[in-house]
Amino acid sequence: MKQKQNKIGRRNFLKTIGAAGLGSVLGACESKKESEPNATEPNAPATAKRPEQPQVPKRKLGKTGVEVPSLALGALFNLVENQLILEKCFQAGVNLWDTAPDYAGENSERGIGKFISRHPEARKKLLLVTKASDAVTIDDVEKALQASLKRMNTKYIDIYYIMDGMAGSGYVGHGLSDPAKLTDDLRQWVNSAKKRKLIRFFGFSTHKNMAKCLAAAAKLGWIDVAMTTYSYRIMQDTELSDAIEDCHKAGIGLIAMKTQGRPQEKIDTEEDKKLAGHFLQKGFTEGQAKIKAVLQDKRISSACVGMQDVSILDQNVAAVLDKTRLTRKDLNVFKTYAQATCNSYCAGCAHICDSALPNAPYVSDIMRYLMYYNSYGDRNRARQLFAKIPGRVRNRLLSINYSPAEARCPQRLPIGKLVVQAVEKLA
Ligand code: SF4
Repeated sequence: MKQKQNKIGRRNFLKTIGAAGLGSVLGACESKKESEPNATEPNAPATAKRPEQPQVPKRKLGKTGVEVPSLALGALFNLVENQLILEKCFQAGVNLWDTAPDYAGENSERGIGKFISRHPEARKKLLLVTKASDAVTIDDVEKALQASLKRMNTKYIDIYYIMDGMAGSGYVGHGLSDPAKLTDDLRQWVNSAKKRKLIRFFGFSTHKNMAKCLAAAAKLGWIDVAMTTYSYRIMQDTELSDAIEDCHKAGIGLIAMKTQGRPQEKIDTEEDKKLAGHFLQKGFTEGQAKIKAVLQDKRISSACVGMQDVSILDQNVAAVLDKTRLTRKDLNVFKTYAQATCNSYCAGCAHICDSALPNAPYVSDIMRYLMYYNSYGDRNRARQLFAKIPGRVRNRLLSINYSPAEARCPQRLPIGKLVVQAVEKLA
């Protein structure tokens, strides 16, 4: 009986948060138009005079000395046109905003710049993250930083991430996949940027060869933060878990991304229905449960989640405010689901398929772009990223024999079939 009451209590809690969020949204719309400054205090955040709402819990970010919200905004979309989501994040204490120059064709960064110009005093309460997209040389990194500062209307970036740039290939990766890119030249540039107070902390995001990048970073001594793909699907991977442990011990702040473990193809299977049913019975959506699973790992400081809609933000805020822990049975439900659906999910272990196809080392990238297209519905971004693969590789993707990579793939992905689908949809 007591258990039943707890369940109902949690359901009500989640509903209450959702309703409060909706009320605030309506309030914000009624009180003023999105782009209008606060009429009474032109420089005050639109939220300043509203009643306090519960703030998402904070966690220490490695040895940086700062605390971050356990839920961060993955800002992959056009924020110039969606200032409301920033307002709502700010109100809920979701003040870690992760952007990049190539998100929404610079309009994610520009949207943050717009928010800061509307609410300049809010800047010191924000933790802004961006990345050195399209940077191959150190000069490129400096130029990318300066351009981001300008677009984001700020004098400094709180956390700056490096990405892969392959000199001469024309290909620029969307995260770090090769720890050899963490060079001494880069370290010197990081020191200089910190000295000039242009960045506070430095690190990388990684969704390809994550374990290798993290393990190498832990030994360097000058990486402050790393954002890595991490979800219920790959939590059992011992190489990844050991690398996370190494980073944690080295004081590197860890942020999880791609926590939903979305597949390459969006297919509603019986397993999907069972998973959703299990968590709904407990009063959670499966999306909320996936965030909880990641945050139950105390080595992770924050879960960075793409949240374009206020309703998704409300649900995720409710998930991190709720103190209920997932049980061993819940985690086993995730494990069983991950095993049953593993051949629809690319785990980012690119060194494995790359070693089978040394002349076309882009399989894991293509799998990720297909995920953006099929699971995120972000077709433009998927196509833009696909177009960055060098033409000499792109043009012969359909003539490559993928069976050696399929034979080695631990997820048993039908790589050849998925590449055909990617070429049809993304080329
Ligand atoms: S295709 Fe297979 S081997 Fe390659 S990165 Fe994905 S899961 Fe790993």
